[in-house]
Amino acid sequence: MKIGVLALQGAFIEHIKMLENVLTKKEMSELVDLVEIRQLKDLEKIDALVLPGGESTVQGKLLKELDLLKPIKERIESGMPVLATCAGLILLAREIENENDCHLGTFPIKVVRNAYGRQLGSFVTTANVGAIKDFPLCFIRAPYIKECLSPKIEILSKVDGRIIAAKYGNQIALAFHPEMTKDKRIHEEFLKLVYKNCKNKTSNRLAS
Ligand code: GLN
Repeated sequence: MKIGVLALQGAFIEHIKMLENVLTKKEMSELVDLVEIRQLKDLEKIDALVLPGGESTVQGKLLKELDLLKPIKERIESGMPVLATCAGLILLAREIENENDCHLGTFPIKVVRNAYGRQLGSFVTTANVGAIKDFPLCFIRAPYIKECLSPKIEILSKVDGRIIAAKYGNQIALAFHPEMTKDKRIHEEFLKLVYKNCKNKTSNRLAS
């Protein structure tokens, strides 16, 4: 099984380290490959993707220049699990307030970028994220989800009344940075989703 981490810009190393931490030695040596995605050929056969934080405008531009936008979009739309944090959430969003630029647009939400003003550019708090209790939330010039554009979206967490985590099918979008904390639970949940999806893919293949 291959898990890709988009490695064009931003905090991708932190995600790789977190995944290495979550995976057992056996999984690392026999089952799972972590792949840095930098060009089209890296996308081959990945079963899941992590979109890290960073600067969404830069990441979007690079994705376009490297012809990665369309193939990634198609893979996500055909069900590949994706974990997106901060700038990654912005890349996934169908609409970005006050901007015409949408990137992958696979997640039917409207987001507001840099939503917390200068003083509150970065802050840490704690909240439940779905079934995960008291997760440490680290926000860095974070966006929030202003509007959900599909009834199928599951809201996972809110802070001060604002949606900051949501799930839509196999897409998980977070405005904060779990990879910057020591808490592994979100990456563990993501791995479970990836395993489940791979299992379904195999049984669908066997059934057809
Ligand atoms: N402010 C960044 C953007 O708009 C996101 C910040 C982050 O990923 N920590 O892309």
